[in-house]
Amino acid sequence: MAQVVLVTGGTGLVGKAIEHVINTESVGSKFGKQAGETWVFVGTSEADLRDPEQTRKLYEKYKPTHVIHLAALVGGVYKNMKYKLTFLRDNILINDNILHTAYTHKTAKVISCLSTCVFPDAVEYPLDETKLHGGLPHHSNFGYAHAKRLVDVQNRQVAYKEEFGCNFTAAIPTSVFGPHDNYDLESAHVIPALIHRCYLAKKNGTPFVVGGTGRPLRQFIFSYDLAKCFIWMLRNYDDVEPVILSVAEEEEMSVKQIADAIVKAVGFEGEYSFDTTRSDGQFRKPASNKRLLELMGGFEFTPFEQALDLSVKWFVENHDMART
Ligand code: NDP
Repeated sequence: MAQVVLVTGGTGLVGKAIEHVINTESVGSKFGKQAGETWVFVGTSEADLRDPEQTRKLYEKYKPTHVIHLAALVGGVYKNMKYKLTFLRDNILINDNILHTAYTHKTAKVISCLSTCVFPDAVEYPLDETKLHGGLPHHSNFGYAHAKRLVDVQNRQVAYKEEFGCNFTAAIPTSVFGPHDNYDLESAHVIPALIHRCYLAKKNGTPFVVGGTGRPLRQFIFSYDLAKCFIWMLRNYDDVEPVILSVAEEEEMSVKQIADAIVKAVGFEGEYSFDTTRSDGQFRKPASNKRLLELMGGFEFTPFEQALDLSVKWFVENHDMART
């Protein structure tokens, strides 16, 4: 049967990774394009999804049978703290327009995208899918987190599943990195920010200084692996319960391990140190990928260094057009 898969946020880090995987895996393979499938990747130039009319026109133009909904106002901790209400309102509007238009257009399936950073602040680790609504999110991303959590509420408890029987669900990725990331030093997440700073240190012959002790542990998923998990969900997962998309807890890495790998991948040979006067943030906030692996029957994640090498290579080669 002909299927049109619309990927909102298709011009961002995760959207570009899905496009890459769909176009490079062989046709008919597990993660490659299937016969009768059309994939459409859209960004803000096609529609501002905060606007219901533009959203409706987008659905009318492409008539998607399936939607992977990635579009969001996304940002690092400082931007999130400064614009809490904008993060709340923009994301509520985007998500509500996408879900409601999918319902009115009888779209067969929508997979939206949450984030492990929207879980409660005071929570017992590891995070798992049952803990999403168990307490208030961290104050730094209060707006973003509430807007994201509402997607899960809309999907099931009050609306689309119970009231209309819609097949809407959500994925919950941990931190993502890869080609097409946001490398802007003000708003980037830790890996792209460190890659950019190490690249500049090498270029300018200055020291590479990492904020904090380097001891905190973090989990990351390579964008191409995340893309495969989304493609798997699209084709195989029909439950409303969200699924955490992450590497295993044992794959946690310290900031120092990450910085060491970046120094190696960038080929930086200058002075490299940790600024221990800067805050470390939370020591660890692991998430469990048990449910994902059970559902998928196992998945081979790309080794971290290999994924990092690829991301650094992309940044060096595309520095001029990257978001910096
Ligand atoms: P990016 O910032 O790389 O991309 C954001 C995408 O959303 C872009 O395609 C952008 O379009 C689009 N977009 C933003 N505002 C609007 C709007 N008003 N109307 C239409 N499109 C819009 O984000 P990521 O790829 O990193 O994130 C994708 C999803 O994954 C998001 O939902 C995010 O919350 C989630 N996530 C991300 C994590 C990460 O570490 N990056 C971790 C966990 C979850 P344009 O390019 O035209 O601006």
